[in-house]
Amino acid sequence: MSTDCLFCRIVAGELPATLVHEDEQLVAFEDISPQAPTHVLIVPRRHVATLNDLGPEDDGLVGEMVRRAAAIAKARGIAEGGYRTVFNCNREAGQTVFHIHLHLLGGRPLTWPPG
Ligand code: 5GP
Ligand code: ZN
Repeated sequence: MSTDCLFCRIVAGELPATLVHEDEQLVAFEDISPQAPTHVLIVPRRHVATLNDLGPEDDGLVGEMVRRAAAIAKARGIAEGGYRTVFNCNREAGQTVFHIHLHLLGGRPLTWPPG
């Protein structure tokens, strides 16, 4: 746990969030500034700053994050129509919270390429 990390503090229950899912490894909650009708963040309980800090021992964790996004999409009825999952890594990609999180976006048509 990093005390100056926003998502560590949400995971610890020190800051409020609208939780969508929690288990031993992951917490998922609604994004505070949703960019689509569904905008959920899937976050590991353990602090990992960016994708660049992952090692082979984290493959299971990342797999669980991706499968959790798919499960939430299915539960919300957007899996068949389609949805997007995004990891932003570092500043040029728009990462603002340095605790890895998978964005799940859906519920409206999404354009490509992204900005
Ligand atoms: P990033 O830009 O790092 O990929 O994504 C960070 C996301 O966290 C943004 O979509 C932003 O709206 C969301 N966010 C920032 N602060 C909070 C907060 O306090 N609570 C919640 N639920 N989401 C937040
Ligand atoms: Zn953290």
